[in-house]
Amino acid sequence: MAYPSTVGAIEAELGRLAADHPQLVTRTVAANRTHEGRSVSYVTISANEGGRPVLLTGGAHAREWAPPDALLSMLARLLRAYEEGADFVVPEFTDRAPAGDIVYPAASFAAADVKRIVERVELNVLALINPDGRAFSQSAATNAMWRKNRRPPRPGSSCMGVDLNRNYDIAWDFERYYDDAGDVAVSASKDPCDPQVYIGSAAASEPESRTVAAILRDRRIEFYVDVHSFSRKILYPWGMDDNQVRDREQNFRNPAWDGRRDGGPGGRYGEFIPSALLDEHVRIGRAMHDAILDAAGGDARAQARSQYDVEPGLALYPTTGTASDFAASLQFQRDPPAPRVIAYTLEIGSDADGEGGFQPVPAIFPKIEREVHLSLMAFLLAAAG
Ligand SMILES: [Zn+2]
Repeated sequence: MAYPSTVGAIEAELGRLAADHPQLVTRTVAANRTHEGRSVSYVTISANEGGRPVLLTGGAHAREWAPPDALLSMLARLLRAYEEGADFVVPEFTDRAPAGDIVYPAASFAAADVKRIVERVELNVLALINPDGRAFSQSAATNAMWRKNRRPPRPGSSCMGVDLNRNYDIAWDFERYYDDAGDVAVSASKDPCDPQVYIGSAAASEPESRTVAAILRDRRIEFYVDVHSFSRKILYPWGMDDNQVRDREQNFRNPAWDGRRDGGPGGRYGEFIPSALLDEHVRIGRAMHDAILDAAGGDARAQARSQYDVEPGLALYPTTGTASDFAASLQFQRDPPAPRVIAYTLEIGSDADGEGGFQPVPAIFPKIEREVHLSLMAFLLAAAG
């Protein structure tokens, strides 16, 4: 599959993975079709019943072309390694940078680790959440920076699309959720013509976000990564406000705080996260970070370009309605009791160093791809326990 892949090539690759590995891979077509009538399918890799449920997603934002391709190539590499009893090998990559070649050496995960992942994890991968958006983004150079899905305009409007990563049912109604300063600071909009962060007409109004939410709930997902680009960040909960571990009453479910949350660092409100859960996010996030950096080799330029920040989501900017915060929020629902959830937004690549931001050129894609493979293999090892 040549990067950047088309929607059709991604579908074909999913079919090929299922056909080539019938004992290990099940392909499921989600119930919800997109606004343009496309089906969305995901694959489940599991060698045994009762594996720990994991979900990886990509392609929520149309213009972010690298994540779906990198997710699918990781699956192909993982399945091949498992069936051959071999190591998972990320090959050497040379960046033909203007200032001189930068070599990123080969790196590998042992065959025993591959076996542990495939046999102890139920790995669900929805590589492309937003096929309508991707197709549009690839249809003409002037459409390349499209981010949202392709919901048709509402009556009286001519503007299309909803930001799927603001549409989940977590602090969705930001005007009710925050005080005036928080409303201004948050990266979210109720204007359908906002080209970036229109939240939709209701929480979970979009078929694509409903599909992800259904997988998270129905499969009782315990480990989740939503892959985006760009900014070299490994973001853990929360994105709505700054984390605090002292006061359980300051939480997204508590209506007593509606209209009073400040949405920023410090201030009167902080989003509660149990300290053990926070520590676990930091620990696994560091393992993902180290997997990328340890594979950078001895060149200081390669090392500098392999530095991912491990931070709470708020470090980027305040956000509501995101997939990873929604996933994390499920563990605080009391009815029915939910499992512990570890959730990240992984922001791959950079707009510096010739990496191309949202749309890396094919020559640099292997660097972005290896960062996805390395960090997610470390994540899957943590999930395998
Ligand atoms: Zn994104």
